[in-house]
Amino acid sequence: MTLQINSERLWSSLMTMAEIGATDKGGCNRQALTDLDKAGRDLFVDWCEEIGCERRVDQMGNLFLRKAGTDNSLPPVLMGSHLDTQPTGGKFDGVYGVLGGLEVLRTLHDAEITTLHPIEVAVWTNEEGARFSPAMVGSGVWCGDFSLDYGWQRADKQGATIQQELERIGYLGDAPCAPFPIKAAFELHIEQGPILEAVGKQIGVVQGVQGMRWYDLVIHGQPVHAGPTPMEQRQDPVKAAAQIITQLYALADEFSPQARATFGDINVSPGSRNTVPETLTLTVDLRHPNQDILLKMDQKFREISKQVCQDSKVNYEILDEWDSPAVAFDKTCINAVRSSVEDMGLAYEEMFSGAGHDSVYISKVAPTSMIFIPCEKGISHNEAENAKPEDIAAGCQVLLGAVVKLAM
Ligand SMILES: [Zn+2]
Repeated sequence: MTLQINSERLWSSLMTMAEIGATDKGGCNRQALTDLDKAGRDLFVDWCEEIGCERRVDQMGNLFLRKAGTDNSLPPVLMGSHLDTQPTGGKFDGVYGVLGGLEVLRTLHDAEITTLHPIEVAVWTNEEGARFSPAMVGSGVWCGDFSLDYGWQRADKQGATIQQELERIGYLGDAPCAPFPIKAAFELHIEQGPILEAVGKQIGVVQGVQGMRWYDLVIHGQPVHAGPTPMEQRQDPVKAAAQIITQLYALADEFSPQARATFGDINVSPGSRNTVPETLTLTVDLRHPNQDILLKMDQKFREISKQVCQDSKVNYEILDEWDSPAVAFDKTCINAVRSSVEDMGLAYEEMFSGAGHDSVYISKVAPTSMIFIPCEKGISHNEAENAKPEDIAAGCQVLLGAVVKLAM
């Protein structure tokens, strides 16, 4: 007989946690390091201690609940996500990954199974970035991308810092906020996008996180009268932008279905209907899960801009605004997830995450992958966020299978 999670217990834990910070519209407002976040953490710790787990809190308030293995000198298999929410957040984002991890531990506990490797559930501090910016700062400090001091000094709008708030709610731990050896790390999460629902599959086997690059393209033309000036004598930044946009859409098609090209904000000045604009500013957002292709798209964007602007006799500059490289998850972790799904005979989709997660940082120092389940209409960061109990159960069962494969 295969080991089965208790889907009703998991659902009821999710609903109990959702009462802490519940909003009128059925969502959750449990922002990082508030009294409500403390209450959520306390409840989670109680649940873990009931089944004999040991608690460790690091200097950034990241929580690790450990179920011992038969050889505790071996590196743990890690699960987890976050318990903080957006101000108008839902019941599942992050929480599902934490309580799904707890359900795996409870299932093993009930079956009196001790794995070879210890197993830990992590709760990462301030994943959402709603109260303290930036997002994912707990896992970011942990993996070494930010210094501890940087993390501690992040302040909310009232000036309260992470360090002060951790101290106030009793979660300023003394374990070093630094990577430790990890056998494998898994994050179970709702998709937060529409793909799984559209293809009618229950599980997303996540390969990585798409990379993105943000630019401002500024094109300088010559303002002239819309009537008397023949078309061929103009230096028109809009004409150049139109051609660049068309060619970038073609570029996204060339690398479809995973490439994205978005022009979310276009401004011209001086902004008069009968004058060719002097300046046009276009935001460009390019994304792809394969870093090599993303770099190729970046290069093509620069070539296209240069060529078009030369031909249109306008000057231009490209301002680099943000560069977030693509993340490729660990093959062994991905394979463990896929084979766990196949054991269950479920339909799955190999996919990439369009959103950032703690796993982006964890994957820098440990073998990592993620498991997605559908959420209703792809809606997240919204009180209406919803997921089906049967999908919630299926994802957790997949997590259990993957964890057991690597912890035994
Ligand atoms: Zn999340």
